[in-house]
Amino acid sequence: MSQLPSFLEARQIVLEHAHTLKPRDSEMLELIASSRYVLAEAITADRDFPPFDRATRDGYAIRAADLVKVPVRLEVTGEIRAGAKPTESACPLNSGEAVEIMTGAPLPPQADAVVMVEYTRRDGEFVEIQRGAAKGENVVPRGSEAREGTVLLRPGITLGPEQIAVAAATGHSRVRVFQPPRVAVLSTGDEVIDVAAMPGPNEIRNSNAYALTAQIEAAGGNAVVLPIAPDEPEQLRKLVQEGLASDLLLLSGGVSMGKHDLVEAALTDLGAEFFFTGAEIQPGRPIVFGRAPRTTDNLQTTYFFGLPGNPISTMVCFELFARTMVEALAGSPPARLRTATARLAEDVKVKAGLTRFLPAVISGEFNHSQVAMVKWQGSGDIVAAALGNCWLVVPPDREMLKAGEFVSVLFR
Ligand code: AMP
Ligand code: MG
Repeated sequence: MSQLPSFLEARQIVLEHAHTLKPRDSEMLELIASSRYVLAEAITADRDFPPFDRATRDGYAIRAADLVKVPVRLEVTGEIRAGAKPTESACPLNSGEAVEIMTGAPLPPQADAVVMVEYTRRDGEFVEIQRGAAKGENVVPRGSEAREGTVLLRPGITLGPEQIAVAAATGHSRVRVFQPPRVAVLSTGDEVIDVAAMPGPNEIRNSNAYALTAQIEAAGGNAVVLPIAPDEPEQLRKLVQEGLASDLLLLSGGVSMGKHDLVEAALTDLGAEFFFTGAEIQPGRPIVFGRAPRTTDNLQTTYFFGLPGNPISTMVCFELFARTMVEALAGSPPARLRTATARLAEDVKVKAGLTRFLPAVISGEFNHSQVAMVKWQGSGDIVAAALGNCWLVVPPDREMLKAGEFVSVLFR
């Protein structure tokens, strides 16, 4: 019987450790360049949102009580554009009057609703209103979105377009963010060579360092790519030691059961503690997770993942486990995996026992989403992975997924 944790157990172990992580120091950054950084300060409303009773439609500002009987003829006493000066919008509305108003403009005092222009007919200085309006209709009252002084964004939130909009709307052209974690990437293997070098017949270009760098940056980290480590204990150990100076170390290759898979031994030499060495997943079954004393500061530890070298194993394991650690080190609470449900386009047959993540294409939108597996030659097949746009998730108790059933997909 296998002693390896299931996918969910392994994920739980990683999450528990992720919750203990602290981000680096904070720094000030231009808001325009802050996308994907994690906020390190609270952003509060510097005034009421909206700052005045705001019209949400083009039409006429009126007093709802004047429209009890419709149609009704009201005298048009003015016009208020968005951005109108306070003096232009300050004139109170008397009973029997209307003011032409544009979307985004402040309501005049005493007006309590806006009638859409579609329900009116203009006649010189007068307007005929054809429909009644409830108090507050087509108006967002001052302060109803947020009162001045309310905290709108808390430290730890990742800055995306919506959060950046809030920071901008509250006058922050610069924001305090956490410095991105430094994530070391150490590729191992005698067969692995630099991308710029011409490969011999038995050599493989180091695509993992590039894929991992892209994944690290997308997760909010800064990749530090180390030289390729050969399958030789002394040189490997030196480079692992160098990697352990970072906030997180990602090793690729060398964690299988082969005679030249030396990564675990090198880590053990450096005082590593292992939380799992393998998980019931495919691709990525040999994955290793642990921590070791930080080279630069023995009081601290650096977490590491030994990712199996097969490119798809590396990518999938990053997405399943390492991304969470990068995000946590970046200062945000561990986020959920990005999953969705879609209808399966064709049957998928596998061996039961492992949770599988198979390259797939999801197409269609909303409840028309459907997913089809990309034909692949196993965990080394980067060509198949590059044709896909997600991973189809097969639960460990399933041997057969039938066309038409709903399945989970993991986005990347
Ligand atoms: P390993 O996990 O070391 O047994 O490696 C498994 C396979 O993954 C190797 O045979 C290589 O073909 C491939 N591989 C290992 N490292 C890399 C890398 N850095 N970039 C691309 N492919 C790799
Ligand atoms: Mg190897």
